Amino acid sequence: MSDPNATLLKANLRQLRLPTMLAEWEKLAREAADRDEAYDAYLLRLTELEVAARSANAMAARIRAAGFPVVKEFDTFDFTAAPGLPKQKVLELARGEWVGQRMNCCLIGGSGTGKTHAATALGLSLCRLGKRVRFVTAAGLVTQLEEAQQEHRLDRLLTQLDRLDLLIVDELGYLSFSRAGAELLFQVFADRYERRSLLITSNLPFSEWGTVFQGERMTAALLDRLTHQCHIFEMNGESYRFRESMKAKKDKDAKKVK
Ligand code: ADP
Ligand code: MG
Repeated sequence: MSDPNATLLKANLRQLRLPTMLAEWEKLAREAADRDEAYDAYLLRLTELEVAARSANAMAARIRAAGFPVVKEFDTFDFTAAPGLPKQKVLELARGEWVGQRMNCCLIGGSGTGKTHAATALGLSLCRLGKRVRFVTAAGLVTQLEEAQQEHRLDRLLTQLDRLDLLIVDELGYLSFSRAGAELLFQVFADRYERRSLLITSNLPFSEWGTVFQGERMTAALLDRLTHQCHIFEMNGESYRFRESMKAKKDKDAKKVK
């Protein structure tokens, strides 16, 4: 293409915000000329690159917005070490239908049993399917809710949470909350009932959630809604971390003996 046309084309691609087409059109045009490619085939290839780049950027943005503390995937998860979490069932959940059906998921188990790892890997899979996800700890969420209330922007925060397809609340039960904090958390959970999905991890069995929500009535009302349509996994067993460190120690001791 003659230089003035190239300059105008570049300006247009910039104005139309098509950065991938801007970066790639010359190279693809040379290839098309070499191969005698039809005009429409060239244009199709060029637009495909833009579409692919946009969807990759959107996915990366969804993953950033979800706020995972660390990226953990199922490919590094050893299902044989987590008998409470059947692989087939979990990989089915990673396909996301339950979120479309507004169902919930609870991972219950002791410290180090892989709850945060599994919750993160599920959340990442859902981000890749185009779902809006947010990962928070229960304590972090309560703090955010209390601060928003004090600053008279609770409604705005609740609206933001309401837009999420999946809210992941990690570590419910490690800390108990003030009455007001527990009520705010209850409100978020109750609002999502049959409308939006929740994934909750807890070290406490359901029978002990009363200590978090202070009051049997509120706890019963919450559990009733939460578990109505819910995939529940009990991940009891030894701590993975503990087991790995014992294994490492044993290997070291074995070497010493030799
Ligand atoms: P929890 O949230 O239940 O306390 P985590 O998910 O934080 O446990 O797991 C503790 C550590 O052990 C993490 O580094 C995690 O990646 C690892 N881990 C736990 N379970 C498994 C597993 N089944 N396969 C691989 N790594 C695991
Ligand atoms: Mg955890």
